Amino acid sequence: MRIVRTIAELREALAAARGAGSAGAGSAPSRVGMVPTMGALHEGHLSLVRAARAENDTVVLSIFVNPTQFNEAADLAAYPRQEKRDAALAAEAGVDLIFAPEAAEMYPQGFATSVRVTGPLTETLEGAARGASHFDGVATVVSKLLLAALPDSAYFGRKDAQQLLVVTRMVADLGIPTRIVACPTSRDPDGLARSSRNVHLGARERQRALAIPRALEAAAESTAAGERDAGLLRARAEEMLHEAGLEVEYVAVVHPETLEALDRIEASALLAIAVRAGEVRLIDNAVLRIAEGDPQASR
Ligand code: AMP
Repeated sequence: MRIVRTIAELREALAAARGAGSAGAGSAPSRVGMVPTMGALHEGHLSLVRAARAENDTVVLSIFVNPTQFNEAADLAAYPRQEKRDAALAAEAGVDLIFAPEAAEMYPQGFATSVRVTGPLTETLEGAARGASHFDGVATVVSKLLLAALPDSAYFGRKDAQQLLVVTRMVADLGIPTRIVACPTSRDPDGLARSSRNVHLGARERQRALAIPRALEAAAESTAAGERDAGLLRARAEEMLHEAGLEVEYVAVVHPETLEALDRIEASALLAIAVRAGEVRLIDNAVLRIAEGDPQASR
């Protein structure tokens, strides 16, 4: 496994891998899969790597703590950085190439371009809570990463459901020739979604945070049992989070593709949650589905 720091080195390494992979006459073209991350790798990231490994000849993992998507300086400063450990985990999971640029490589002197996805996809939920510039930062850096590597496929977690929708929209709109692959949320055995920020949770906060998967699960069960009132589902989830001592930033029941707020669930909805457990900001979500065979469900 190689670690490269510049876009030029990344392109050179990938060109060599593509050339080597498709050398034989009549052989299938060599496929490249990319997993963009901010490092501090955990099992959730590694599940994305495994998905990429299963479908590609070369797997590239990027590690870049992107300053432009942080709205709080303290959050950026506290974000865990552990490249040596990350490299060992990535190598073990079958990554071929790590792209770990410095900020100056991604944002050279005079950098003046921004990629912006507009509308409810970026203005709601995380966009409303963290400010619209959060997704400008995400869209800009992801488009730069994809243009640098031009992977056949790129792998993103459903844990960041809104980010996945924004990236999918951006790639379609800009005609970036990469397939975006959505991967399921990886959870600890107690249900808490894996996150690089979980290392900052004390034992007490971590216990409190378990109300998040409980609230998601309860809402999914109610919906499967026929509850269609989005306001009621929202209120119940919020109450469970409050009762556990979590500070709720938002609880929203929205259309799973447009993210527009719903009053009533017709077929499925996304329940999205953002809370603070002490100092640590956590997000999670679940798709709520009306049970199949429900005569009222319009699919
Ligand atoms: P991050 O390093 O937090 O920016 O995440 C990098 C990628 O890993 C994003 O596509 C995330 O959605 C994904 N990811 C983070 N946590 C999880 C998780 N628990 N399960 C699945 N994917 C995840």
